[in-house]
Amino acid sequence: MELLTTRQALDQWVEDAYRAGHRVGFVPTMGALHAGHISLFQTARQGCDRVIGSIFVNPTQFGPNEDFQRYPRTLEQDQSLLEQAGCHALFLPAVVDIYPEGHQTRVQVGALAEDLCGRCRPGHFQGVATVVAILFNLVRPRVAYFGLKDYQQFLVIRRMVDDLAMPLKVVGLPTVREADGLAMSSRNRYLDEHARAQAAALFRALKRAQELYAAGEEDPAALEATARAVLTTAGITRIDYVAARDPETLAPMVQCKKNPVILIAAWVGSARLIDNRQLIRN
Ligand code: AMP
Repeated sequence: MELLTTRQALDQWVEDAYRAGHRVGFVPTMGALHAGHISLFQTARQGCDRVIGSIFVNPTQFGPNEDFQRYPRTLEQDQSLLEQAGCHALFLPAVVDIYPEGHQTRVQVGALAEDLCGRCRPGHFQGVATVVAILFNLVRPRVAYFGLKDYQQFLVIRRMVDDLAMPLKVVGLPTVREADGLAMSSRNRYLDEHARAQAAALFRALKRAQELYAAGEEDPAALEATARAVLTTAGITRIDYVAARDPETLAPMVQCKKNPVILIAAWVGSARLIDNRQLIRN
């Protein structure tokens, strides 16, 4: 795997790949890689001739009191996981490679980015959309792979790519989970033993909502209340949101005729965790 630490090195690699006629697939990450990330690389390997990942802890998507400083950085281990996954190149930009002196343009997606995590984390999706747009322009991939674990993020990026006519395909892939259902996340490293046990309640809450929906419940408030009760019973009380929403627009629904997605953001110990599930009728 080639390590690319400057824009110039990246540009050379991309040029070579295209000159050789390769289809380039891209997986942007913030590192502290786990099996969820690796599943994206594996799928990219199946669909593309050349796979490139990036690791960049993007300062502009963190709020002033968020975890930018303490976000886990495990580069050596990440490199060996990516080697094993057959990744061809890894872009490791410094902050100045992404935001050179004088940078002042931001990408702001509309309504999709305003509610839920957009409301709880002001500026977050602007930071995400901006860094992903810059990375797409630098890497120029044909396909980019994202996890549906970050469901709102996936919709925001897909919207941006459509709206700005960016010439690539965006693929969303299923959430990889621990044995007890907890969605894998770099932030799970923040969980102590007690919090780790509590965290499994997010998955159980989604599961309860699924059971209720399958049994015929279509009232979003009832689905949300059931999920919320599972969290509070487990001792999770700092809940940013539990929301049953339209799966395409994330708009609230009066009645869940169309299969809703239920989304949760909650604090467990010192970690803010998110998860979601699209509800289906069996
Ligand atoms: P991050 O490093 O957290 O920015 O995530 C990089 C990519 O990995 C994003 O597209 C995430 O949605 C995806 N991802 C994170 N956790 C998981 C997971 N448990 N399963 C699948 N994809 C994931």
